[in-house]
Amino acid sequence: MQLFPCPFCGPRDETEFHYGGEAGNVRPEGANVSADFWANYLWFRANPTGPSREIWMHMTCGEFFVMTRDASTHVVADSSPNSGREP
Ligand SMILES: [Zn+2]
Repeated sequence: MQLFPCPFCGPRDETEFHYGGEAGNVRPEGANVSADFWANYLWFRANPTGPSREIWMHMTCGEFFVMTRDASTHVVADSSPNSGREP
């Protein structure tokens, strides 16, 4: 078991959280978006080995937040209550 830090509720069991994707992956807007740009938005991820910023949802309180976590060691550096839309 690992404890994840919800910025609204504090440390909670990892089973209370749902992964939402990489932070900073902003949906393209406008009618002139190329197919390659859409493909990059929908399907391609950086998937870094080290630290990465991820969007998570705490299912108990229903809030989304950004967590900085090392994908290889699972060490959580921090969590913040922003939406993760900014890069
Ligand atoms: Zn919470």
